[in-house]
Amino acid sequence: MSAAKLVRPEVLGMAAYHVADAAGMVKLDAMENPFPLPEAMRRELAERLARVALNRYPEPNPRELCDLIKRKMQVPAGMEVLLGNGSDDLIQIITLALAKPGAVMMYPAPTFVVYGMNATFMGMKAVAVPLRDDFSLDADAFIARMRAEPPALIFLAYPNNPTGVLYPVPDIEKIIEGAPGLVVLDEAYHVFAGKTFMGQLARHPNLVVLRTVSKLGLAGIRLGYLAGRAEWLREFNKVRQVYNVNVLTQAAASFVLERLDVLEAQAAQIRAERAHLGKALAALPGVTAFPSEANFFLVRVPDAGKVDAALKRQGVLVRNLHPGIAQCLRLTVGTPDENRILVTALKEALQ
Ligand code: PMP
Repeated sequence: MSAAKLVRPEVLGMAAYHVADAAGMVKLDAMENPFPLPEAMRRELAERLARVALNRYPEPNPRELCDLIKRKMQVPAGMEVLLGNGSDDLIQIITLALAKPGAVMMYPAPTFVVYGMNATFMGMKAVAVPLRDDFSLDADAFIARMRAEPPALIFLAYPNNPTGVLYPVPDIEKIIEGAPGLVVLDEAYHVFAGKTFMGQLARHPNLVVLRTVSKLGLAGIRLGYLAGRAEWLREFNKVRQVYNVNVLTQAAASFVLERLDVLEAQAAQIRAERAHLGKALAALPGVTAFPSEANFFLVRVPDAGKVDAALKRQGVLVRNLHPGIAQCLRLTVGTPDENRILVTALKEALQ
């Protein structure tokens, strides 16, 4: 009996999400915050973690941590918070809950590939509505598609990954108001955009806001959170793995989020570095850098495969999106030193 005979054909036809080996590289492929926590804070955190009871299961609904998130992230009064093992977990949970046979998931594309992967896992029909050539959103085309194939679930990444584009507020509102189903506004990069729909939750009964602490500087602990009405979160809570957020993550998140100003200062530094890097990229002949409101740039080069390989040889790891997005690379904004290394390596790679 072989796997090829027993495994679902849609799974056999998929590729696993690719994560490159980053050992010894300048790692600019995954939109991480490049700055570590300050030394004193790390020591204090270590003491806090040493007191965690590893022999006990985690609290399934950690009230204090959810309250802390509500307070620190300006979740409006009356809205609830559900935690995930990264926002990846919450994307899976939402999809699992809404995946009636034949139900449609819709999103503008290109976007975060995990939405479409989950549609495949859960048997939803994924409808990808193309962005314009400059990766801006054609809201009217999206709405026309919603009318033609009413989606139960819409994912809008705000700003979008891998393009960095932040769609205009009126376009998002038009989509939310015209949507026949649930709209998940994925705000993974909100600290770099400075814009959010969190404050709009009360106005839209079909909106939930998805966030993560990953891009803020805690990608390693795996914590995502979903804010919205109890009516939605109560159902999502049923399909969640009971212990999806482990004790160390809960303790570390509680400790660091109490000191959120440290991460917010790092995000401000990353935004300033984004401006410098954007200028340096724009000055490189042969490179088209698309404007970004996130902590990365999408750039088009004459030959993405060749440039990617040349960067790798020089010890710089970025994400090659070709052929999905023709001749494009995604470059994460790093530390000032990392960005200098990247620009120098790019110049060399473009020779
Ligand atoms: N949403 C978007 C738009 C992303 O780009 C990512 C990660 N690249 C995620 C969600 C998942 O983030 P995490 O699972 O680390 O919370």
